[in-house]
Amino acid sequence: MLLTTTLADTAPLTGAPPLRIENPATGQLLQEVPCYGAAEVEAAVKRARIAQKAWGALPFNARANALRRLLRAMRDDPVFLPTLVSESGKPRYEAELIEMFYALELTRFYTGKVGRRALRDDIRHPLIFINKRARVVYHPRGVVGVIGPWNWPLLNNFADCIPALLAGNAAVLKPSEWTPLTSLRIATLWRDLGLPDGVFQVVTGGGEAGQALTQLCDMIFFTGSGRVGTMVAKAAGERLIPAVVELGGKSVMIVLADANIERAARAAVWSGFAHSGQVCIRTERVLVEEPVADRFISLCAQEIGRLRQGAPNPSDADTVDIDVGAMTFQPQVDVAEHLIADARARGAKVLTGGARRTDLPGRFFAPTLIADATNEMAVMREETFGPVLPVMRVRDAEEALRIANDSPMGLSGSVWSGSEARACALARRLESGTVCVNDVLVNYLCVEAPLGGVKASGMGVRHGPEGLRQFCRMETVVENRPGFGWLTPIVARYLWFPYEARTLRLMRKFMKVFY
Ligand code: NDP
Repeated sequence: MLLTTTLADTAPLTGAPPLRIENPATGQLLQEVPCYGAAEVEAAVKRARIAQKAWGALPFNARANALRRLLRAMRDDPVFLPTLVSESGKPRYEAELIEMFYALELTRFYTGKVGRRALRDDIRHPLIFINKRARVVYHPRGVVGVIGPWNWPLLNNFADCIPALLAGNAAVLKPSEWTPLTSLRIATLWRDLGLPDGVFQVVTGGGEAGQALTQLCDMIFFTGSGRVGTMVAKAAGERLIPAVVELGGKSVMIVLADANIERAARAAVWSGFAHSGQVCIRTERVLVEEPVADRFISLCAQEIGRLRQGAPNPSDADTVDIDVGAMTFQPQVDVAEHLIADARARGAKVLTGGARRTDLPGRFFAPTLIADATNEMAVMREETFGPVLPVMRVRDAEEALRIANDSPMGLSGSVWSGSEARACALARRLESGTVCVNDVLVNYLCVEAPLGGVKASGMGVRHGPEGLRQFCRMETVVENRPGFGWLTPIVARYLWFPYEARTLRLMRKFMKVFY
C-alpha cells in the first residue's frame, strides 16, 4: 500500500501478488497489502521531492508541532497499538511501554531545545581571520529513504523518520513485508491530521522496493541484517549518498563475581527474552565468573520458570498476563533450532525450553537457557535474535573481555560488578557501540546520547544531536564579522596578487612564533 494524503490503495504496476500479513501469535490473516516495486517507489520519491521544498522551508516550530500532533494522535488512536500488537505478536506491554513510549520520548527530545540548537546556524570564529566568521548552515538533504526491520514496527521504522522529518526532509518509509500495518496506520493518521501531502509516505513491498529507495533517495537510514545492510551501504557508496546502517549484534553480558547476582540474573532473563529475543541489543551471550556461575544459572532458570508465554489480546488494553509473546519472523525459529542443536552436539546443557511450543496456536518458541556454552559454539558467535540465552563460565574479567571482543559484531553489552568504577573501566575496553553498567537495554532510551554499532554491527548512529544533524547537508558560509569588515581589504592586500617579499618575511616570523 502506498499511502499519501492524496493517493490511497492502488494496484502495483507489476501486478505482484499482495503481501499477506498474519498475526504470528494466532496465524490469523490480518490484511493483504500491495507489494510495490521500483515504479511505485519512483513515483513516491518524485512526490516527496516536490513536497519537501515547502516542508523544508517551514520554521523549526511548525515541523516540531506537526510531529507532536502526530505522536499524540498515535498515542490516542484506538487502532494504532492493537495493530502493532497483532502484526508483531508482542505483548501490549512492550508495544506501549517500549515502542510507543520511546517514540514519544524521542519526539519530546528532538522537538525541544536540543533539536532546535542542533539545526540552528552554528557560528564559528577563525583565529587567523578575526575579520571573518564561518556560519555552518544545516540544510535538509532532500528525500530520506528509511528501510526498517520487522522486530520493531514503530521504533526502528517510523521513529527513524522523526529526526529526518524534523530536519526538513521528506521521508519515504519501507517497512518490512512482515509488519507494514503499523507504518500504514501512521500514514493514515498523518493524512487525517491534514499534515502536508507527500512529506511522509509509506511504500509496502519487499527487497525490490528497498533497493529502489537506495537508488533514488538522497540518504538512506537502514536497520536490518548485515547481509542486506552491506548491499545498501554499497549501493549508497556507488551513488555517494550517505547511508546509516544499523545491523545485527551479539551483545555480551559480563557478570563479575562481586556483582549483585539476583539482579544480574533477572536482567539477563529480561534482556534475553523481551520480545521473544527479537531485539537487536538483547543479551545474546552471558560470560559469568566461575565462582558465581552455578548460582547465576540457577537463578536464571527460576526466573524463566515464572515467565508467562502466550498470545496477546490486541484489543485488551489493560490486562497484563503475558511476558513473552510470539516469534514475528518465521525463519528466526529455524535459526534458534539450528543454534540449539549445534550447542547440544558440542556438549552444552539445555536447562529450559529448547523447542517450539506446539501447545500454542501461533508461532512460539519456549525460552531456552543453555548452560556450559563455549566460545566455539555457533550460539555464542552468530546472532540468534530469538529466545535463547547461552551462559559461559569464565576464569576472570580478562578472559571475559577477550571473549567478548572476539566477535565480528559490536552493538551493545553490559558489565556487572559490585564496584561501579570497576565495571565502568571494563566497559570502556569493550569493542561496542554502547555499554550499560549494572543494567541492560536502557541505552536505547537514553536518546540524548548516540547509539550505533561498531565493526559488523553498522555504520552511523541514531539519537543525540549527532543523530539529527546527520540528516542535514552542511554548508559553510564564510562572511564578514560585524564591525571588522574594514580589515578585509587590508588582509586581501597581503594575501592576493601581487605577492610581496615583505609579506613572506612577516608570515615566516608569525609561523615561527605561533606554531
Ligand atoms: P533484513 O535485512 O532482512 O530486512 C531489513 C529491511 O530491508 C526490510 O524492510 C527488508 O524488506 C529490506 N530489504 C530486503 N532486501 C533489500 C534490498 N536488497 N535493498 C534494500 N532493502 C532491502 O532484516 P530483518 O528485517 O530480518 O531484521 C532483523 C535484523 O535487523 C537483525 O539482524 C537485527 O539485529 C537487525 N536490527 C538491528 C537494529 C540496530 O539498531 N542495530 C535494530 C533492530 C534490528 P523485506 O522485509 O520486505 O524483505
